[in-house]
Amino acid sequence: MLIVRMIADQSGLETRLEAVMAALDAAGMPVAMAGMLDFCGDVLQLSFPHAELVPVRTILDAHFGACDMLAADHPIEIPRLLISDMDSTMIAQECIDELADYAGIRHEVSAITERAMRGELDFGQALTERVGLLEGLEEDAIAQCLAERIAPVAGARTLVATLKSRGCRAVLVTGGFHHFADAVGEQLGFDRVVGNRLAVAEGRLTGKLVGPISDAATKRATLDEERGQLGEGARVLALGDGANDIPMLQAADYGIAYRAKPKPREAANGRIDSSDISAVLRLFDIPESEWLAR
Ligand SMILES: [Mg+2]
Repeated sequence: MLIVRMIADQSGLETRLEAVMAALDAAGMPVAMAGMLDFCGDVLQLSFPHAELVPVRTILDAHFGACDMLAADHPIEIPRLLISDMDSTMIAQECIDELADYAGIRHEVSAITERAMRGELDFGQALTERVGLLEGLEEDAIAQCLAERIAPVAGARTLVATLKSRGCRAVLVTGGFHHFADAVGEQLGFDRVVGNRLAVAEGRLTGKLVGPISDAATKRATLDEERGQLGEGARVLALGDGANDIPMLQAADYGIAYRAKPKPREAANGRIDSSDISAVLRLFDIPESEWLAR
């Protein structure tokens, strides 16, 4: 079974739907059922008895453009766990790049960040190198950076608050730093935060981390650990945008790539490129009248 939900442009929808169903039929992937969701009437759901996501997505993209979507091999239900990346997913910035600005080395650091997010560099090495460049920066610069630069993406508060109101636990996992993530997590209502710890001595960053690196494997392990506490059949939603989110996105029942780099976007079974992040709620058919903290 394959279920695909997509936030479809309503104009000329019937005609395009007819064409896409014919194309899917011709490709040996007939649609068993097609219809709009009960509460979110702009979300089209297609059900396939036997089909694989990648070839289906190729045909859908050709007819509908790359619209925001989610797919699963089971009937889609509201998740019991949200596990999300922070930088460029829950907040619009990369904290380390913003912080590097206060050290006067933004350009140098952000070039490494960009390559690491694309999966072109080993995450741990790239992190260690960038943290090393921050040696000597005053710890107070972090609080200043948080206040001046860091802000949630549009819809993040609504997404977390609304999912929590439906009995979903929220965990923030970051390859970034607790110095930022603890504040962001509290602001957005996350129940738990996992990240890296910057070492500080005499009020300045030492250029080192405390404890093990929080990386792709940590994100995946946190998902597994949290899922283990939920009981049989509980569905997990993961959100991320970078290469180090791929194992977590793939392990989740619903892995949604948010305005993501090409590799995680390809690896995930969902994506949001055009809407704000609260569109996740539409993909789970939660009526807008029941969204919280707008
Ligand atoms: Mg990120």
